[in-house]
Amino acid sequence: MKIVRTIQELRLVLDDGRRGLVPTMGAFHEGHLSLMRAARAECTQVVVSLFVNPAQFGANDDLERYPRDEQRDARAAEEAGVDVLFAPSARRLYPEGFSTWVEVDVAGGEASARPGHFRGVATVCLKLFNLVRPDVAFFGQKDAQQVAVLRQMVSDLNVPVNIRVLPTVRDADGLALSSRNGFLSDEERRHALALPRALQAGRAAPDPVAAARAALNGLEPEYVELLRVGDATLLTAAARVGSTRLIDNVVVEGELA
Ligand code: AMP
Repeated sequence: MKIVRTIQELRLVLDDGRRGLVPTMGAFHEGHLSLMRAARAECTQVVVSLFVNPAQFGANDDLERYPRDEQRDARAAEEAGVDVLFAPSARRLYPEGFSTWVEVDVAGGEASARPGHFRGVATVCLKLFNLVRPDVAFFGQKDAQQVAVLRQMVSDLNVPVNIRVLPTVRDADGLALSSRNGFLSDEERRHALALPRALQAGRAAPDPVAAARAALNGLEPEYVELLRVGDATLLTAAARVGSTRLIDNVVVEGELA
């Protein structure tokens, strides 16, 4: 596996094959690795980007404390069969004078809870799509609204990439894997289980939002909402457990393809 840090180096390592891109912010867990393995199975060249994108963090978000361990990530990516790990500095992606942003009109869920978040996501993903020129880009259902936003962007701006979405990988007790789970104390982690459990309770209920809210076991949600992603309806929720913000979703109807 090659680790590249500059746009010039990246251009040199790209080949003519069918290319898969897995955009990430690092601190790899099985969720990230499942995307890399799917890319490996489908593509001849697999590029993983590792970039903690400052543009998608708000002023009160956890950019500073976001977990970073590039050496461990590089080993895990190599074991998953990744060909190229693209790990640029913030200065390389946002040089001085950077002033173009991709704004996808979207409301509800994360868009309303984190103003500016999807502008940062859409901008960095369009940059990565332009730099890597992947045939397929792989994303997790865990961030389902992100998938909806990126599909809207590639459709609206005619970006020649297929967006693939893969199921959320969970711990045995149901908690969705997240790079932020490491911040949870044992007690907070137990408390956090209310989130996936509430979503499961809501999933089959006549009023999914009300049923999920009622099952949150004292966890104060930022939102519990139904969200349309393509042909699927998802029940989504976000909540803070201690100082850690968690999001999760389940499909209520249809299929997230
Ligand atoms: P992140 O590094 O958190 O930006 O995530 C990078 C990619 O991994 C995104 O497409 C996420 O949706 C995906 N991802 C994060 N957690 C999971 C999970 N538990 N299962 C599947 N995919 C995930």
